[in-house]
Amino acid sequence: MRVRLVQYTQDPLKVVFTAARTCYSETTPIAISEGQYDKDKMMALVKKTFRAGHHSIFEHVCFTFAIEGISRVCSHQLVRHRIASYSQQSQRFVEYSRPQYVVPPKVKGDYEKREKFDKLMGQLFDTYREFVQDGIPPEDARYLFPNALKTNLVMSMNLRELFHASGERLCLNAQWEIIQLFTLIKREVRKAAPFFARFLEPKCEHIGYCPELKYCGKKIKNLLVPGVVHRK
Ligand SMILES: Cc1cc2nc3c(=O)[nH]c(=O)nc-3n(C[C@H](O)[C@H](O)[C@H](O)COP(=O)(O)OP(=O)(O)OC[C@H]3O[C@@H](n4cnc5c(N)ncnc54)[C@H](O)[C@@H]3O)c2cc1C
Repeated sequence: MRVRLVQYTQDPLKVVFTAARTCYSETTPIAISEGQYDKDKMMALVKKTFRAGHHSIFEHVCFTFAIEGISRVCSHQLVRHRIASYSQQSQRFVEYSRPQYVVPPKVKGDYEKREKFDKLMGQLFDTYREFVQDGIPPEDARYLFPNALKTNLVMSMNLRELFHASGERLCLNAQWEIIQLFTLIKREVRKAAPFFARFLEPKCEHIGYCPELKYCGKKIKNLLVPGVVHRK
């Protein structure tokens, strides 16, 4: 998979600081946005506001990512995060000429299973091509496609939702592919806005304990959740 940050809110620290300071001072937002402030002080206020749970100030900063070559499994998990905008390659209007699919690492590492996997993908794709050549529209022939098929999309997400989605998807309980995707998203954010990338962490890093039923052992578990099991 490939991820590129194609656009983002310029000077995100200034934007978030202006929002935070507007809430807590008599100074007007125009004066704050045009003022000169010490960067360390700006970062300190933003951190304090984050820790206080006043997260709406982060909604003013938006990132747009180009995401290529993830499976339909992964894109389905991604679009469950509703506070974002998505534009995804259409299987109705794109007529696929060659099979492109994601092979899970555990299948890749097993020679026999990999052979079976590739064979079945080849058969499904040949049948798709046959259907399309016989006049079945691609939008109907695509019902043959497996979840492994690769897809491309553009996603715009504000910083607050990026914190939230990263909290869920960088957790070891998430699936390997979406963990990989959010690791690349974080890498792109780090290049553009290093101060904010540190907040893109598994949720246990923020709350200090693990609220998951499957427990990875990284943080103390939440003893209030009954039936917590250790992750194998
Ligand atoms: C490890 C893991 C396993 C999962 N397994 C399953 C599964 O088996 N089946 C399944 O269906 N899903 C599953 N999910 C998906 C999960 O249920 C959520 O749909 C997904 O993580 C999106 O996150 P979110 O609901 O917090 O909200 P987002 O859409 O990211 O929204 C962010 C926040 O906005 C608020 N919000 C958004 N929309 C509303 C609303 N309509 N009403 C009130 N508040 C709202 C909530 O506070 C929410 O947390 C899984 C997710 C993970 C991480």
